[in-house]
Amino acid sequence: DAVIGILALQGAFAEHQVMLKKNCGKRQLDVIQVRTPEELKLCDALIIPGGESTTMGLLAKISGLIEPLREYVKTKPVWGTCAGAILLSQAISNPKKGGQELVGGVSVKITRNGWGSQVESFEAPLQVSGLRDAHIPFPGVFIRAPVVAELLSAASELHTHVISRIPDSLLPRSSLDEGPDRAIVALRQGRHLLTTFHPELTFDSRFHEYFVHECVLPSLAP
Ligand code: GLN
Repeated sequence: DAVIGILALQGAFAEHQVMLKKNCGKRQLDVIQVRTPEELKLCDALIIPGGESTTMGLLAKISGLIEPLREYVKTKPVWGTCAGAILLSQAISNPKKGGQELVGGVSVKITRNGWGSQVESFEAPLQVSGLRDAHIPFPGVFIRAPVVAELLSAASELHTHVISRIPDSLLPRSSLDEGPDRAIVALRQGRHLLTTFHPELTFDSRFHEYFVHECVLPSLAP
C-alpha cells in the first residue's frame, strides 16, 4: 500500500483526505495526517493543502517539520494546492514583511494573492491536459490564489509540464506578474504537482487521481 500524507497543521487538509479516501480507493491507499517529523517519515508522498502560507510555514517551523520537509521534497512526490503551492515554490516575489518560511522543491517564483485584493475569489472552468476525461473542464476554485510569476531557469531541466493555463480574460492584473508564465495555474515538475487553486474544495476527484497515477505510483516502481 502507498501511504499518502497530508500536512495537517492548518488549512484544508481534511477535505484532501476525504477526496482521496472516497475516490482513489480502487488501489489501496493509506491516507494519514502529518503533524510531526515521525509521521512524515511514514509517507510515500505528501499533499500540502490550501490555507495561509505564512501561518503554515510558521507552524511547520515550530513543530520541527520545516527542515524535514525541505529534505523530503528532494526525493518524494509532493503536491501543493494554493498556500501549499506557495510553500513548494523556490522563490516568492512578495514575501510577507519580515520574511516567511518556504519548503521549496519546485523551480518557480510565485506571487502571493496575485489576483489582487478586490477579486479575491473566483471560479473558472479549466482545460487540463492529462486528466481523465480531459475534454470536460475542471472547476478551478481560486481563493486569494497565488500566481506563478515565472518558471525559473532550472525548470527546463526538471521536466516541467504545464498542464493548465487560465483563459486570457481572467489573467491576473497585478503588476508583479507581467510575463507569459502568469497564465499557468497547474504544473507538474518531475513528481511534484503544483496547483494555484483548490481541487479539494470541489466534487471533482480527477486531480487527486492524477496525483496518485502520475506522481505517487510511478515513484514506487522498483
Ligand atoms: N493567500 C494565501 C497565502 O498567502 C493562500 C490562500 C489559499 O490557500 N486559499 O497563503
